[in-house]
Amino acid sequence: MKDLITRLDPKLQHLLARAAALAADVGATLWLVGGVVRDLWLELPIGRDIDLAVEGDINQLIVPLADAWDGTITARHPAFGTATITVGHWVIDLAQTRTERYPKPAILPEVQPAPLTKDLYRRDFSINAMAVQIIADGDQLLSAPLIDPLGGVADLTARRLRLLHDQSLRDDPTRLLRGVRLAARLQLTPDAATAAQIADALEAGYLALLSPERIQTELCLTLEEPDPAAVIALADQWGLTPHVIPGLHWTPALAERLSRYRQDTSEISRLAPDGLVIAGLVLYDLSDDALTQVLHRYHLPAPARNLIQDLIALRPHIATIAAATSPSAIDTLLQPYSIAAIAVLHYATETSIQQVVSRYLHEWRPLRPPLNGDDLRHLGVPTGPQIGQLLRRLRAATLDGLITDRTTAEQWVRRHLVDS
Ligand code: ATP
Repeated sequence: MKDLITRLDPKLQHLLARAAALAADVGATLWLVGGVVRDLWLELPIGRDIDLAVEGDINQLIVPLADAWDGTITARHPAFGTATITVGHWVIDLAQTRTERYPKPAILPEVQPAPLTKDLYRRDFSINAMAVQIIADGDQLLSAPLIDPLGGVADLTARRLRLLHDQSLRDDPTRLLRGVRLAARLQLTPDAATAAQIADALEAGYLALLSPERIQTELCLTLEEPDPAAVIALADQWGLTPHVIPGLHWTPALAERLSRYRQDTSEISRLAPDGLVIAGLVLYDLSDDALTQVLHRYHLPAPARNLIQDLIALRPHIATIAAATSPSAIDTLLQPYSIAAIAVLHYATETSIQQVVSRYLHEWRPLRPPLNGDDLRHLGVPTGPQIGQLLRRLRAATLDGLITDRTTAEQWVRRHLVDS
């Protein structure tokens, strides 16, 4: 049997050993659960999110644990028996082992403390329903057997995605979105019963019962996946995309532009947050109507709303950008839009436009004319709106190469003063 625990970072092992001692003091048992156990078994890197299940009274444990770890309690919900403690780089979620009852589809469940085996059964997929006990000898974390009552290892070995009971997607339709992410990331195939449940849940329209916020959370997690294109491809194959973003389809062009963005190491790839650019690239081919629907359906944060509005406004100008003859014309056209929208344009369009957008971002956008407002006043331009107008024209003339230095700039200003 694999020794899973020793694959954990030694610092994390140390934290868990301390936790085991504290749990024993209050008569509780601690378990490592969820995705970490799955990823340990698969020998994948372990991220910063760690899930611990507490069999016993979690409320006696939170504060002593945070103190012993020198961590910060960043969330605490005594009614749900959950808490989050942040320790250095790790975000450790603790939850009391429980059963869940869903009185209606797609609403949050009623929860009740229960032993670990029941807690594993209430989870989404067999591969996420495994646990390893946290036991220690002093500072030393000891290896412990994998608890796998639902056949997670057999499913991992067969690369199978399997729901744990036939009401699972009705209870919580977010599992459809979790499932597609997991299946795409780990190259899993749903078993026959799970595939049938997915088809039935989509047919029954369960996703429409979820609040937009819950879907949005899953969509953000999709954008953070190592390969969002693979998730979209699979979601399209499963028939999920029309329920989430009508009009969205996986296409080779979408895959190609996401991979172009991912492989690019230039400065442009760092101009806007990753998730925002990926979202823009995913949405780029949607019609104006479909993009407007996204804006109506989801309560997106301002940068994402601006991005979508900018894409709607920018796309009709692509032909103008291609035909523009001067840098200042392109500058005037692109200047009103967010940097994220322009970065999306860069990765989503054909090479000739990409080259123009790249020059705009690298050379033209950062360019400052050789004179500023104070210089103009010293040259006799009266204070008032004329300064701003002249600065804009000065910038355009500099972009177009008519002004190369301070001297030619001053000559240009004097000429304009005489002309006006
Ligand atoms: P990832 O690698 O995507 O972070 P994860 O499985 O660790 O995967 P979390 O969202 O941190 O994802 O969830 C931790 C565990 O909690 C899951 O492995 C699963 O056992 C359980 N879980 C999370 N969400 C659900 C859900 N909607 N229904 C049932 N169980 C869930």
